Amino acid sequence: MTQQTPAGPTHAEAGRQPASPDLVRAELTAWVHQHWDPGMSLRDWRKLLLASGWAVPSWPERWHGRGLPAWADELVATELIRLGAVGIPVGSGTWLAAPTILAHGSDELRARLLGPILTGEQTWCQLFSEPGAGSDLAGLSTSAVLDGDSWVINGQKVWNTSAHHADMGMLLARTNRDVPKHRGITYFAIPMDQPGVEVRRLRQMNFHASFNEVFLTDARVPRDNVIGAVGQGWSVALTTLAHERRFSALRRPDYHPGPGRALAEARAEAEDHFVTYSWYPQRAGRPDLVIEHARAAGVSANPVIRQAIARLLTLQRVSSWTAERARAARALGAPPGAEGSIGKLAASNIARESARVHAMIAGAAGMLTGPDSPFGGVIAEVLMSVPAQSIAGGTDEIQKNILAEKVLGLPGEVRIDRDVPFSQIRRHG
Ligand SMILES: Cc1cc2nc3c(=O)[nH]c(=O)nc-3n(C[C@H](O)[C@H](O)[C@H](O)COP(=O)(O)OP(=O)(O)OC[C@H]3O[C@@H](n4cnc5c(N)ncnc54)[C@H](O)[C@@H]3O)c2cc1C
Repeated sequence: MTQQTPAGPTHAEAGRQPASPDLVRAELTAWVHQHWDPGMSLRDWRKLLLASGWAVPSWPERWHGRGLPAWADELVATELIRLGAVGIPVGSGTWLAAPTILAHGSDELRARLLGPILTGEQTWCQLFSEPGAGSDLAGLSTSAVLDGDSWVINGQKVWNTSAHHADMGMLLARTNRDVPKHRGITYFAIPMDQPGVEVRRLRQMNFHASFNEVFLTDARVPRDNVIGAVGQGWSVALTTLAHERRFSALRRPDYHPGPGRALAEARAEAEDHFVTYSWYPQRAGRPDLVIEHARAAGVSANPVIRQAIARLLTLQRVSSWTAERARAARALGAPPGAEGSIGKLAASNIARESARVHAMIAGAAGMLTGPDSPFGGVIAEVLMSVPAQSIAGGTDEIQKNILAEKVLGLPGEVRIDRDVPFSQIRRHG
């Protein structure tokens, strides 16, 4: 296996002048005016972005960045769109796989995998959960056995968002059953397009089908596609999960409607990508619709409903301040921390509260779907989608455990299977 070196110095470590948002904005604008040509292909444009370091400006120069502070990523992404250009793609490749590979991958893996993620040539899915291992992810039983130049994978994954159109998977599998459960796991980059990988769509109660079950039968992973070291996949997975908590909502980029190949390809890419996520705003409860909904239903003067709306919007405002605090901490270079769990918990509370308010307003009509139902069926979709908010990316109860133990320092949950070899743990299912 090839060497892993530290990803590279930060902006401050490189001894540079502190960057200010105004300076970064000005430098980016000049660069875009010089290089942006909407007639070029999206791939060629993104290759230019990667070569210039504007792809992920907070990353080291060696890996498609400029070593700028963390706040530069969001600023540059927003500015590129404001200037009528296009940034890196959205999705679990850029959002989860890339930072994990940057933090833990070998140099060879970084060189091979990061570029195609950032240009959008390869999309990724997350193959973590199993029928018997969700909250207790470290209890997973999919196995990986080394056979010559590849690992042979057998097992089943479930709830894998976008696995039906992913090129690569972030796979957790057990490589050693004779050590405690957290220590025998390895993190792999698995190619999805192969005979041993069978992806089956799952249909949800809100009529969408965004996730899948994935059956792995003698699937093969090249020997060098291990991210981090063999047996240390748990700490690699924690990096992915920390990023997942930070980005519990996906924002669709608002590309310029103008002509040009790169823009058309970027709009088509986003269109395709967001089919999977079209119900996510409803999953978040649509608090943005409550006032309009109350007015349309003629109940905006009802004092009970007004109180419920005020309570909901207060929750939302307080949570946005927590998000601000998280952004400020990250701008100062802090790694993803407790705010991720707090924010995720707050998002669940807001979603549930919002669904309750919509249900109060709509009454029985909230159960109707179709064009003549409230908001064309959106309210019914909210009511059926909100439960997913408090499950995806770690359930509310798990976030509370993390906060209790890691932030408040309360005694840990009783965990009787933590120190015994995985092979000796009694399992069901
Ligand atoms: C929209 C969505 C998208 C998802 N996308 C992906 C994906 O792309 N890839 C992927 O791998 N997975 C994905 N998941 C799966 C998700 O990570 C799991 O559903 C989640 O971790 C919970 O696991 P579980 O469903 O097995 O529930 P379980 O772990 O079986 O939990 C059942 C209930 O028990 C509670 N519970 C469990 N343990 C404890 C405890 N120690 N203390 C207190 N309460 C506890 C839980 O909070 C929950 O209420 C997705 C899920 C959703 C809803």
